[in-house]
Amino acid sequence: MSMGGSLDQQWARVRGRLKDEVGETAFRSWLMPLQLQDVRGSEVRMAVPTRFMRDWVLTHYADRIRALWSGENPRVQSVDIIVASMGAANDLAETPADAVAPVAPVETAVRVPQRSAAVPAPEDREDLSAPLDPRFIFENFVVGKPNELAHAAARRVAEATTVTFNPLFLYGGVGLGKTHLMHAIAWHIRRRDPNRRVIYLSAEKFMYQFIRALRFKDTMAFKEQFRSVDVLMIDDVQFISGKDSTQEEFFHTFNALVDNNRQVIVSADKSPSDLEGMEERLRSRLGWGLVADIHPTTYELRLGIIQAKADQMGHLIPQKVQEFLAHKIASNVRELEGALNRIVAHAELVGRPITLESTQEVLHDLLRANDRRVSIDEIQKRVAEHYNVRLADMSSARRARAVARPRQVAMYLAKQLTQRSLPEIGRKFGGRDHTTVMHAVRKVEELCGIDRAFAEDVELLRRMLET
Ligand code: ADP
Ligand code: MG
Repeated sequence: MSMGGSLDQQWARVRGRLKDEVGETAFRSWLMPLQLQDVRGSEVRMAVPTRFMRDWVLTHYADRIRALWSGENPRVQSVDIIVASMGAANDLAETPADAVAPVAPVETAVRVPQRSAAVPAPEDREDLSAPLDPRFIFENFVVGKPNELAHAAARRVAEATTVTFNPLFLYGGVGLGKTHLMHAIAWHIRRRDPNRRVIYLSAEKFMYQFIRALRFKDTMAFKEQFRSVDVLMIDDVQFISGKDSTQEEFFHTFNALVDNNRQVIVSADKSPSDLEGMEERLRSRLGWGLVADIHPTTYELRLGIIQAKADQMGHLIPQKVQEFLAHKIASNVRELEGALNRIVAHAELVGRPITLESTQEVLHDLLRANDRRVSIDEIQKRVAEHYNVRLADMSSARRARAVARPRQVAMYLAKQLTQRSLPEIGRKFGGRDHTTVMHAVRKVEELCGIDRAFAEDVELLRRMLET
């Protein structure tokens, strides 16, 4: 095998990118152990120490690894991950014949230096807890209808001196504040009572620690460490679905803690009963305490969060821009924060105030991703809401200015934002003639030219509806 320097360099770049993409924690847990073996034809082979890791990396990262490799080296079209026996510490690798690494001397050459299996590196003895984000405190958490139960439960657990609900199970979609609430609990307890041992970590990390313990034949110490805590928080527990041995260990740890009246807090993307690949007894046990879900955000909550963040950043964001963002970035809070950071950064960089125009420019890609094609029905609905007229008046025969003007605006927007022809639009507005639509379009254009407030209104509506 010729391991040219350039192949090593490619691999280094692939690793660098992977790390950026998946983040430090996941990288350290799953990707750092990957070792480049060789490139055979169009296939690049990498090795990991255990079968379990191989399965994990294949299911979670293979596509990205392949894409990154192909980007670095057009020859590469597929990746293979093998289990390479790395000394004695290999409990989990029930290596079948096909997965045994070739023992050619050259394989040794590409391996990272091995350390003795019996002596874990210093980092293994580090505090088990993952670092806490200093911004994730209760004071920064905006409470609204969708998250009030989860928030109240989190506060209660954080402030309690005796264990009330055990476990506290928080669940909800991505980016809705589960991790934020867990960190907030941890901060609160640590601040109030520094002697209590609070451990927060992701389920991935829990699993990783467990696997290491198995590798280093150190499971006793592992059990001890976890069972001696006062508060254990495991984030994103859905990650241990289907991982039987980890689940088993988690279940025992969990029971030991609960039996000793220690607080357990768990988060997941689904309710306990919906956690597929999770053993029945564990699922039911997880639902024993208080189960609190976080619902998708509402417009009001998003607006509240934008206001709070804008205040924190000390940046003036016009009310219209705030409303616009709350309307448009509805997917989750993380994305909303990202959008806000971007427009603030942009405004500071170019030294101009934030406007609707600049916002739309800067968030072009994001807005498109959050958008769907707008229909005439939606336009009518939104316009009727905006002007506070009945939806039925969009197609009624009433000619009073108070309803005729909004109707004209809706026709104008239908012409601007859809591919419909004038006659089609006319039909949608109570069977009106195409000349009526044409007249409406001209009228709105004319008014926009002379009435600034009106023009801004139309512009706001357009931006909110735009695809
Ligand atoms: P999850 O763990 O549910 O995927 P996170 O807790 O990581 O979501 O939240 C994503 C981002 O959104 C974080 O930066 C968090 O601070 C923020 N966030 C979520 N909900 C709120 C809220 N109600 N108030 C303020 N910030 C929030
Ligand atoms: Mg999270």
